[in-house]
Amino acid sequence: MSSNEATITLPNNKTIKTPTGLFINNEFVDSVDGKRFETINPTTEKIITTVAEASEKDVDMAVDAADKAFNEVWRNSTGAQRCKLLNKLSDLMERDLDELAALESLDNGKTYKDSKDDVSDSIEVYRYYSGWCDKIHGKTFESQKKFSYTRHEPIGVCAAIIPWNFPLLMQAWKLGPALACGNTVVLKSSEYTPLTALKVAALIKEAGFPKGVVNILSGYGKPTGSAMAYHNNIGKIAFTGSTATGKYILKASSESNLKKVTLELGGKSPNIIFADADLEEAVKWAHEGIFYNHGQCCCAGSRIYVENSVYDKFIDKFKEQTEKIKIGDPFNSDTYQGPVVSKAQFDRVMGYIETGKKEGATCLIGGDRHGTEGYFIKPTIFTDVKEEMTIMQEEIFGPVVAISKFNTIEEVIEKAHMTTFGLAAAVFTKDISRAFKISNELKSGTVWVNLYNTFNTYSPFGGYKQSGIGRELGKYALKEYTQVKNVQINL
Ligand code: NAD
Repeated sequence: MSSNEATITLPNNKTIKTPTGLFINNEFVDSVDGKRFETINPTTEKIITTVAEASEKDVDMAVDAADKAFNEVWRNSTGAQRCKLLNKLSDLMERDLDELAALESLDNGKTYKDSKDDVSDSIEVYRYYSGWCDKIHGKTFESQKKFSYTRHEPIGVCAAIIPWNFPLLMQAWKLGPALACGNTVVLKSSEYTPLTALKVAALIKEAGFPKGVVNILSGYGKPTGSAMAYHNNIGKIAFTGSTATGKYILKASSESNLKKVTLELGGKSPNIIFADADLEEAVKWAHEGIFYNHGQCCCAGSRIYVENSVYDKFIDKFKEQTEKIKIGDPFNSDTYQGPVVSKAQFDRVMGYIETGKKEGATCLIGGDRHGTEGYFIKPTIFTDVKEEMTIMQEEIFGPVVAISKFNTIEEVIEKAHMTTFGLAAAVFTKDISRAFKISNELKSGTVWVNLYNTFNTYSPFGGYKQSGIGRELGKYALKEYTQVKNVQINL
């Protein structure tokens, strides 16, 4: 076994071989300085394996590989060739779905069932963008003496920096459109979840992508991510993560080569329940909205506003539903909630819970760790939370929800807008006029009506306000990975 491949034993005693090197030019290699870091299983707090850590020099090498591949091969590839490769990758991911899902659950702590859904959703993204490869066209403009046309050209080398909450899916959201448009990519996974990105890298090689088209690096924000953000030979950077890091990346772009930047950042999404809503449905979706993926979703419905007249009834039902959550090993089929991703995230979420208690919110249920081993946190409900409280303002990114009441539509819209974020929102009502009115009013990139957390590969996703810049998914993402050239011809 080379140092860049690990054999990992799963809870069912099956083993998986998986790469642990940096993926540059279709090879798994050590970092130039030989540095490695540990990746931890959040369920057991034990080391899964070590992976190579990319230094600034490794970033340079990956960018050089991507640049060469772009100029010598990929920019001249046909849409049909790219389509075939993306479909081949999808086929291989389908073949290895169980292994990919198992690695994701080991590294991240999400349930095996949810990981399988993530693999399927990622495959859908690659297939969706495979369909776009040969359909990215410009327009023609004619006048008597002049003919002009536009070309939607790839940008060149694109960087992608992804977080730990949906490693496979975020990789797909970035690679799918970037490759379909004819760009080459250097992607950095999160230091907390490096394994599945590398497993997909092996499949990218097996699918037959030319060397250098996709390069996958493991590493920390600094130096690896920062070196990418400041790199002068990267034409575009797509980032998903915290608003603080998003601002850093925007600054790095402006201080280097003004690379194009798209940002998918944090949220504090309001979930608004009117008295006329189907309460059973509202409870079901509100529950899913905050507790799915242990609250580690950028669009988590972490602020619930309930109309006064049904507040007590909603709280009773919501509490009852929350008490049913099965916490445990992500590989148990009846587990709904595994551990949060890391010790750092565990401490951060527990810190917010303490702050909520100190600031005077009522901790109705939870508020504590679960068990003694693993980063498990009990699902936590805070009620009677005031707008100015920290837990109503800041993104917690864990299984913690803040609930408060409202009396009028005007009041709840005002409250919904009282954060710096604008990623998503939801409204529950049977009144279609009210649903329209409030959907139009809310300053957020997504509004769900009578449901939560639904995504389509063909619908855009992105944030208003400090939740981001640009859009991912659907046709909208193609705009973010191409530049338009106008050619004018004198006739
Ligand atoms: P983070 O911003 O610290 O990290 C995200 C990614 O950015 C990681 O790959 C990290 O290594 C990298 N990074 C960190 N510092 C960097 C730097 N200076 N330059 C370049 N890259 C850098 O976020 P996190 O701690 O991984 O995730 C937690 C937070 O991210 C959450 O609280 C949430 O706000 C946000 N988040 C948002 C989304 C979204 O889709 N909007 C998704 C996941 C996480």
